[in-house]
Amino acid sequence: MASTRRLLASIHDVSPRFESEVEQLLEVFQPQVGNRIALLVVPNHWRQSPISPGSPFAGRLRAWAEDGFEIFLHGMFHQDDASHASRSDRFRARMMTAGEGEFLGLTKGEAARRIHSGQALLEDITGAPIAGFIAPAWLYSRGAIEALTESGIPIAEDHTRVWSPSTGALLSRSPVITWASRSRARRISSVVAASSLRRLPMRDLRIGVHPGDCRSPLLLRSIEKTLRIARASRKPRRYSDLFG
Ligand SMILES: [Zn+2]
Repeated sequence: MASTRRLLASIHDVSPRFESEVEQLLEVFQPQVGNRIALLVVPNHWRQSPISPGSPFAGRLRAWAEDGFEIFLHGMFHQDDASHASRSDRFRARMMTAGEGEFLGLTKGEAARRIHSGQALLEDITGAPIAGFIAPAWLYSRGAIEALTESGIPIAEDHTRVWSPSTGALLSRSPVITWASRSRARRISSVVAASSLRRLPMRDLRIGVHPGDCRSPLLLRSIEKTLRIARASRKPRRYSDLFG
């Protein structure tokens, strides 16, 4: 069983702004999954934390890529600056993402521009193709999906699945365990959800963490326990292994 069940781990919002939190999360993850960790990188978080080629953080990024970590583009600014036409999108933008669903309201043209420039920056820094693109808060407008499909990028994911924009193939239908740190009620409900999701029998299980999780000892304990329990019956894999 352990040979067929897979664990996919990711650290979101990798940015100079969260460098120490990312280090802390890597220390939690690496004993369980080694370098099989997807790093979701934001080129300029909230337009306040640019990754500049030649900077020490760019050097870290290149070293992670050379050590075998998968580098994903994770939006451009991680900030939702679009005006949403529909009431349901306005609701989703405000309630589900605290205004961080950058790609929820973008036109195809604007999504394509941000994907291309973010991809070019990361590939210039690491010297290797990005593993894929994952929108902030896993939220994509229809235009963003169309831009991705034309981008040739190999891997994308949302809350329920991992797919290949370049081939159209569904790579994995699987839950993703994630923790919400914004309020005590959300922290408690995400710990409760994690404790049942981590025992699900499906073939693939994804675990995604955020820098904000580091502020809560409760969440860190839940993350550690979830990794340990999932790891007992699963092999850590890279996203690119899903093509195998
Ligand atoms: Zn994010």
